[in-house]
Amino acid sequence: MVLTSSSKKRVPRRRSRARQIFNEVARGTILGAILVNVLAEGGVWYNDKHLVQGGTPLSAGETQMVRDIFGDAVNTDIVRKHVGRPCPDLNGKKTAACVMHGSDRHIFFDAEYTHANDYASADRLPRNVFLHEMTHIWQYQNHLTLYEHYWKSCPTYDYDLSGDVEFDDFCVEQQASIIADYSNFVLRPAFWPPGRYKGASLQLQVMSSALIRVVEDKFPEARNTRKRLEAEDDSNELKSNEIYHFKPNV
Ligand SMILES: [Zn+2]
Repeated sequence: MVLTSSSKKRVPRRRSRARQIFNEVARGTILGAILVNVLAEGGVWYNDKHLVQGGTPLSAGETQMVRDIFGDAVNTDIVRKHVGRPCPDLNGKKTAACVMHGSDRHIFFDAEYTHANDYASADRLPRNVFLHEMTHIWQYQNHLTLYEHYWKSCPTYDYDLSGDVEFDDFCVEQQASIIADYSNFVLRPAFWPPGRYKGASLQLQVMSSALIRVVEDKFPEARNTRKRLEAEDDSNELKSNEIYHFKPNV
């Protein structure tokens, strides 16, 4: 008997109904997520470009503060500060400072103690708040809105650096706290030289060395800045020793 081509044909396997429903639901969920993300991105884009007007560009010192840690990962040219203006998406609720939801440029400094004309020469607290908010700008300039808001948002500012953790393991507020603390305790500490913690408590020494590892592994420019500040401090110490030991011939 000769087999005809039609008799060789395979009968397609019928997919089960459950499998079909699963595929349809999965497709719907993915399309829904993409649609929500597109709408969110569109809303943020509209707010950034049209709803929020004015604001002050960063000063040369503030731009340098940002570059000292983030390198060129932040476009500082588009950032605008709004000092003494409440955050638009908190419905009038007071806060210390905020970056508008998903915005890659607008920072609002609401509370009196966070006001400053130039954060590069401001007191320690407003300077730390400035770097906290600049971390949110870095997040929004470098990640997808949906991913940030729904997978990495968190209610806590506390973090634990013990173990083999990396910067990307932390949620948005924890990352902002880590960057502000790195500046506060490592780059420009109040009572000891940059990166050295002479006279600091053991707890602070452990914390600072963990901050150095976590931040500098993620942002190599921060390491360059710390080394530069340490070298400047060395040469200042040398100069002050020379002055101290100088004995005039009288
Ligand atoms: Zn924050």
